Amino acid sequence: MVRAAAAAGLVGEQRVAAGFLDVDGIRRTVAGLRAAFGTDTTVLHTFAVKAAALVPVLRLVADAGMGCEVASPGELALALAAGVPPERIVLDSPAKTGAELAQALRLGIAVNADNLAEVERIAVLIDGRAPASLLGLRVNPQVGAGSIGAMSTASEHSKFGEPLRDPGARERIRAAFARHHWLTRLHVHVGSQGCPLDLIAAGVHAVWELAEEINERAGRRQVTSLDLGGGLPVNFADDRITPTHADYAAHLRAAVPGLFDGGYALVTEFGRSVVAKHGFTVARVEYTKTVGGRRIALTHAGGHLATRTVFMPDSWPLRISVHRPDGTPRTGATEAQDVAGPLCFAGDLVARDRELPRIEAGDLVVLHDTGGYCTSAPWAYNSVPRPAVHGFSTAGGETGFATVRPEQSLAEVVAESGGACADALTGFGAGAGVAVGRGLGVGLGAGFDAGLDAGLGAGPVPVQRT
Ligand SMILES: *Cc1c(COP(=O)(O)O)cnc(C)c1O
Repeated sequence: MVRAAAAAGLVGEQRVAAGFLDVDGIRRTVAGLRAAFGTDTTVLHTFAVKAAALVPVLRLVADAGMGCEVASPGELALALAAGVPPERIVLDSPAKTGAELAQALRLGIAVNADNLAEVERIAVLIDGRAPASLLGLRVNPQVGAGSIGAMSTASEHSKFGEPLRDPGARERIRAAFARHHWLTRLHVHVGSQGCPLDLIAAGVHAVWELAEEINERAGRRQVTSLDLGGGLPVNFADDRITPTHADYAAHLRAAVPGLFDGGYALVTEFGRSVVAKHGFTVARVEYTKTVGGRRIALTHAGGHLATRTVFMPDSWPLRISVHRPDGTPRTGATEAQDVAGPLCFAGDLVARDRELPRIEAGDLVVLHDTGGYCTSAPWAYNSVPRPAVHGFSTAGGETGFATVRPEQSLAEVVAESGGACADALTGFGAGAGVAVGRGLGVGLGAGFDAGLDAGLGAGPVPVQRT
């Protein structure tokens, strides 16, 4: 696939980095997820948009049968732009504004309140009417943290959800459900990456138990659905998919049998486990040198596209492979090398002291398993244009590529950096100061982007679907 991408001109001397997504693989995984839950339980599988916030990806997973979990006005806009129907969208933002809530209620989007204050805000907006939205409350089961603290959302002091084990908390939650009959869902999300299945199951069990308790007190089935969150960990060490969604479902069936007896409709919110292993990033090696006796490759894969790996290399290691300029893999003897990115800070390394085949200038390095949380978590440091993302499929017999997101143009970099506000700061006390650059933007005008980008030789992407 790297060879096909190089041959198609999608990465190389002109286009120094690009992300790739395996469309067939994503479809396969979504089908596996749906099969894992069987057909005897009503389940809405949603895709956590933050894992790959790209409109074509959202449309792809929706086409494969998923909805979307959104956590900001931007993510909601992306899901709607992808054509995902409101009844298949779940809004989970931790700090929803009144306007956001009102919009969700207007559209009939399911909302999980983060806390009881938010429940009361929703009550005011509903004002006694029957809401079109399914409404729930996120609970923090406080079952503990996984191996990555920043990814663990069910620890004692997590910022997410209404705590379940704090003194008086259970009673407060039950009272809210008694007060508001439109609260019909409980939501839990134990964490992302680093959380073992047992911990996830313990969180789900705690919430199922709470639902049973609320329903018993109510004397009817007030809680009719449980949103189980996502967080299935991804194996970044090799090509195996482990655990699978089937492992997850089997684990839940054993740990919380009541979940599958038909009493509750279920919602899942998987992100990384749907896309991570179906994406990779290719970047060109610009130079190599030896520093302190160790070979280092200066590449275009850095913190702008693998931010977590660069800042927390122990928690987010990525496999790397080395390919010749034409995309064929380099094999044979290895030596310990550093793989550095293009950014101007010393920590910008995607691998340190890593045993790899000897890297040469002009080679392509491939970062594996970057389908989740890479394209959607770029870092604008050094104003490096965001690389393109392409989808590929071999469904038609031969490999076809399609652009998911074009490479960011220099004009777009300028625009998002206040280009339209160039005079904003020199306009104070007009008349003072040296006349620098006034009108520069105007002078360059429409030709600016075309001129700069053409100068760099990056015209339109030459290959679309084949
Ligand atoms: C991030 C998130 C998810 C998805 O987590 P993954 O680890 O990508 O599966 C699901 N639900 C909520 C509320 C989240 O914040």
